[in-house]
Amino acid sequence: MKLHGVPMAIVVVGTLSGPHAQQSPPRTVAVQTIGQQLPISDPRYVFAEVYFLSNGGANALAVGTADGIVLIDAKLPGWAPVVLEGLQPVTDDRVVRIINTNADEDHVGGDGEYGKVEIFMHENAARRFLKRTGTGVAASAIKTFGDRTSLTIGRTELQVYYFGKGHTDGDAVVVLPHARLAYVGDLFAEKSVPVIDRASGGSALALPQTLARAVAEIKDVDRVITGHTPFQQGRVRNWPTWNEFREYAEFTREFVAAGQAAWKAGRTVDQAVSELRLSDKYKNYRMDGAKATIETIFAELKQGAVQR
Ligand SMILES: [Zn+2]
Repeated sequence: MKLHGVPMAIVVVGTLSGPHAQQSPPRTVAVQTIGQQLPISDPRYVFAEVYFLSNGGANALAVGTADGIVLIDAKLPGWAPVVLEGLQPVTDDRVVRIINTNADEDHVGGDGEYGKVEIFMHENAARRFLKRTGTGVAASAIKTFGDRTSLTIGRTELQVYYFGKGHTDGDAVVVLPHARLAYVGDLFAEKSVPVIDRASGGSALALPQTLARAVAEIKDVDRVITGHTPFQQGRVRNWPTWNEFREYAEFTREFVAAGQAAWKAGRTVDQAVSELRLSDKYKNYRMDGAKATIETIFAELKQGAVQR
């Protein structure tokens, strides 16, 4: 790894202006050291080498290893040059591996733009990805996993998990033990109602169990990176703690149980939403997605009833 000696917390911005720069704002990716949440005296501050990449679709991480950069999610199509330019001040290593946390365009769109790179994702995500893109990215570049696996890239260990259906049917969770960090992608909507992509195999009914497994099986993580919370320009972002993720898993269980109870009581979606009462500790959660997710719960229960 060729670190350019940047011990201080930094925010680097890569910009790319194309022929349409006058009509549309230039694309920028801000690069923020995750390590800045640790005191500079902490040895992990220097060694974590994990960078958060803003904008251009889903959040992404760049993980420095002795072999090169591992990208966790690859942003929208056309964003690779901006990502590489943004990373330039901290490292000019090349990207050697991409791990995708689901197959949505805002996570996989840039996959084919980093040259010959091995791409890693859950087998369900890979199936959806190849169905949609065809030969856009060589199928031979894609490696898949089923339940869980551990990758060692340039002496850096990355644990990759699949805990079951949630936002889609192929959501990966990536744990970086050396940084005590988990990237949980779209499984965690922070303090708001979960977003379920049924068209990609997601399931509201399965999500509580999926999150409960994640909480039970992942160890020694302090901070959690989400797929979509906006980057706060110029501020140190306090990423959610592991305890906040654990609370979210409980919130999801309570929310889904309330939806199931309303269905059982013969309520309409609108009635279920207006009668929704959750524990007081969730009163600062955003509930504007409640209707969509109650609709999903009802649709899944209806489908189950028909199948039986
Ligand atoms: Zn997403």
